[in-house]
Amino acid sequence: MPFTIKGIGTRYYGKRNVRKEMGTCQNCRKFVQLENYDIGLYFVILYIPIIPLGRRQITDKCFYCLHHRVMPLAKWRDLKSSAIETSLQALVNDMHNPARAFEYLFTLTRFNEMDDARELAATIEAQYPDNADAHYVLAGWHMSTGMSKEVKRLFQRAFELNPDNPDYRRTQAMMLVEQGRLDEARELVRCLEPPAEGFQPEEFVALGEAFQKQGNHVAATEMFRIAKTDPTVCQDKKFLKMSKRSEKRAAQYAPRDFTLPRGGFPQQASGSIRSFTQ
Ligand SMILES: [Zn+2]
Repeated sequence: MPFTIKGIGTRYYGKRNVRKEMGTCQNCRKFVQLENYDIGLYFVILYIPIIPLGRRQITDKCFYCLHHRVMPLAKWRDLKSSAIETSLQALVNDMHNPARAFEYLFTLTRFNEMDDARELAATIEAQYPDNADAHYVLAGWHMSTGMSKEVKRLFQRAFELNPDNPDYRRTQAMMLVEQGRLDEARELVRCLEPPAEGFQPEEFVALGEAFQKQGNHVAATEMFRIAKTDPTVCQDKKFLKMSKRSEKRAAQYAPRDFTLPRGGFPQQASGSIRSFTQ
């Protein structure tokens, strides 16, 4: 790590080839934006770069805790050539295996060869037009690289190709939630309710929250009730507060038990009921 004392020491200057992606930080475990780039390391006097000490490759710098890995750029380039060559050879040897194509795609992405990666992503889609898994993984790849334009279309295609897959179904439901199409999303997740094997509370929490924002507290309460089937959800104070809010509001709309006033109906009212029933 570079350091300076009274302006003398080492510092980084000249960030280049920046690539950002969403991922999980190895240090703080948060799902955040991770930055990759190369940068020059310099010996500095009064913070002025005097002697270049070579370029470094910074990988997976966490937006939240700033944790990252660093290595000399030359070493990183050697690694890159070797990794790309290995993945490409594996693909050439097994051209009709989508797993090999995705390995190559992720290697290109990892080493910032984004033009080649984008071209390969388009080729994979064209080569496997009816492969739901391929579309789902491609959607995730587009999402992680920040190219959100294609994400919705690819997730939707994966769901159309295999609507029985719980992951594709819940992802499609969340896309609908994002578009405010809550009733359609509700229908999609109906078959994921407990005791369904694919049940996960997250989509019901998200759907409940969306219903709550629309002021539909009855539907929100139902979603929260389903989510609570997973006891871990009830440990989240924010969730419990949100759920209580809708429960309270929903109770105001619930039909109340009808009880006779003490002493029966007033004469006039009971008379009118009699005349109605006769
Ligand atoms: Zn972090």
